[in-house]
Amino acid sequence: MEIKIEWSRTRRDLFLKCPRAWYLRYGHTTLSHGINQFQTKRLPWDLMLRAMKEILVERLEDLQEGKQWSPLLLEHQLKYSLQKQINQTSHHIKKRYFEALLRYANHRFAMLWRCRIIRQLEQRKYPCWYVLDRTESVQIGTRRIYASPDLAVLIQNKWHLVRFDMQSAPKKATDEFEANAMVLWAKHHGGFPQHETSYRLHTIGWRRGFWHTETFQPTQQSVKQCYKLLEYDCKAMLEIHRYARANLALLPLANTKKTCQSCSFRARCPGGENLVVAQHEQTLLELAHQSASSKT
Ligand code: SF4
Repeated sequence: MEIKIEWSRTRRDLFLKCPRAWYLRYGHTTLSHGINQFQTKRLPWDLMLRAMKEILVERLEDLQEGKQWSPLLLEHQLKYSLQKQINQTSHHIKKRYFEALLRYANHRFAMLWRCRIIRQLEQRKYPCWYVLDRTESVQIGTRRIYASPDLAVLIQNKWHLVRFDMQSAPKKATDEFEANAMVLWAKHHGGFPQHETSYRLHTIGWRRGFWHTETFQPTQQSVKQCYKLLEYDCKAMLEIHRYARANLALLPLANTKKTCQSCSFRARCPGGENLVVAQHEQTLLELAHQSASSKT
């Protein structure tokens, strides 16, 4: 069976942190025709981030139609969305924890609405802008790429592509490459220009108590480089798929204990209990596997 690899920043992040967790979350979907039993295991914190994202899109769509949300409406919508996300899982969250999650979400929203681009949109400074659907993918060669920005705003003949990260990882060297994937998406989506310099990229992410904005100017070279790295990721993911077919127990585990602490698969993964011991046992298993295959 041909394995179809799908690339997105979320998938990539998880893949780099723990190939096994990546396979359990995304690899199973490919092999079992879209059914992924592990999707229901997301942590409450992640569900809160999902609810925020859902509400952000709704609020931006309303803003586009000139509708403003009151703090009360925002609170109500967040509560409804979070409850809905939780109902889809097997979690039973205590009322106090649920309310604490809502407080976090409300606070982050209040801060987000002070960001420059949002204020400018509220002031109707730009007549041409779109709210885009992150789940809309494009096909590039044999790969399906999920790299849509959340907003596309036309400012003085340039398309400003904006992505919101509800929870941003610490700043890293590959941030620019990941942002460039938005240009790849736009060029393959249709309706956007083909020239890389017709874009400007912004990522707005929550990190250490604030929304941080990073801005990048893509070039032909940077987008080309992005495509190369993206292909490299997809090949590495394909390799893990093949590995998993041979023996699921041999899939590489997380690099750090920290990843396991927030992993939704920890209850059924040896790494979740003790990563160091699990890595050691895996090395022994691998040696046994190698010696068995060399005898056959
Ligand atoms: S518990 Fe740790 S090693 Fe196991 S899948 Fe999760 S992150 Fe990976």
